[in-house]
Amino acid sequence: MKVLCTGGAGYVGSHAAWVLARSGYDVWVFDNLSYGHRAAAPEGRLIEGDLMDGELLVDALKSNDIDAVMHFAAFAYVGESVTDPAKYYQNNVVGTLSLLDAMRTAGVGKIVFSSTCATYGLPEIVPITEKEKQAPINPYGYTKLVIERAMADYAHAYGLGFAALRYFNASGAASDGSIGEDHDPETHLIPLVLDVALGKRKEILIFGDDYDTPDGTCIRDYIHVEDLADAHIKALEKIEPGQGLHLNLGTGAGASVQEVIQACREVTGHEIPARVVDRRPGDPDMLVADASLARKTLGWEPKFVGIKPIVESAWAWHQAHPQGFDDRDN
Ligand code: UDP
Repeated sequence: MKVLCTGGAGYVGSHAAWVLARSGYDVWVFDNLSYGHRAAAPEGRLIEGDLMDGELLVDALKSNDIDAVMHFAAFAYVGESVTDPAKYYQNNVVGTLSLLDAMRTAGVGKIVFSSTCATYGLPEIVPITEKEKQAPINPYGYTKLVIERAMADYAHAYGLGFAALRYFNASGAASDGSIGEDHDPETHLIPLVLDVALGKRKEILIFGDDYDTPDGTCIRDYIHVEDLADAHIKALEKIEPGQGLHLNLGTGAGASVQEVIQACREVTGHEIPARVVDRRPGDPDMLVADASLARKTLGWEPKFVGIKPIVESAWAWHQAHPQGFDDRDN
């Protein structure tokens, strides 16, 4: 099968593109490199372009005989989505509608979409099932929810087949050490803690220790990027025309900020100073997936269980690439 990965030079997208390639799929990456890295995409497979360039998208789909799209290209800084919502609605919503139009023009009827647990906002019941009300508390979450809705309408009207995969906290790096997490700016907990271990930062700031959790710090469900990639491939194989899958992708186990920092201390052997500061706005106490529907529907099982193996894979990447990918000018 021939698959186009938009955002395939970004963090989750590049891991999916590599796993697809290793699994025998013919993979193409479509990325404008605004945040992605040329070196993260499988060699010779990058089509440099923007989602708003409908003509280029149609050409990429048609000339490569694409059967299905995995759509990772999106802006994903929650805080920035609050201060600059236009940037998010433009890229994540208008850009995705442009992609869906190009797919219709090119006759490509299958899409796996990167959605997010941020579509649930402040969940009433944790672990979170797909039945939980979707009520985002920031523009980022809304942009993803709008596309989930659009895909359902397109499925009904035009026969689109889709999977909306709601990720919890994507983390870790490729097991073969080839690619890993490299955001600029970096805002995610695990890479920031590992930066302290590498001596690139003085300390890690803990955003609040007065949450309603056992140690007072926020609990998240960290899921390894290769497990995410594996679920994408399984979802792709399940998609039927005119139908949609909505699935949570997490491990079902949570780790607190303190537990993540402790795991990083054990894995790296570094002391890693930490200091508690004020809460970050918009952080729910606990976000943990009930991923039993994904397990059942896809026959999928995460291979990385527990925070330590995830941190080990991230640490291997950060140690080997302390400056990240060597293509900052891209
Ligand atoms: N966090 C923290 N210090 C940091 C970065 C993150 O305490 O420097 C906390 C954050 O408040 C959240 C958890 O770590 O509770 C995971 O945050 P991250 O930004 O990695 O992912 P998110 O859950 O926001 O998608």
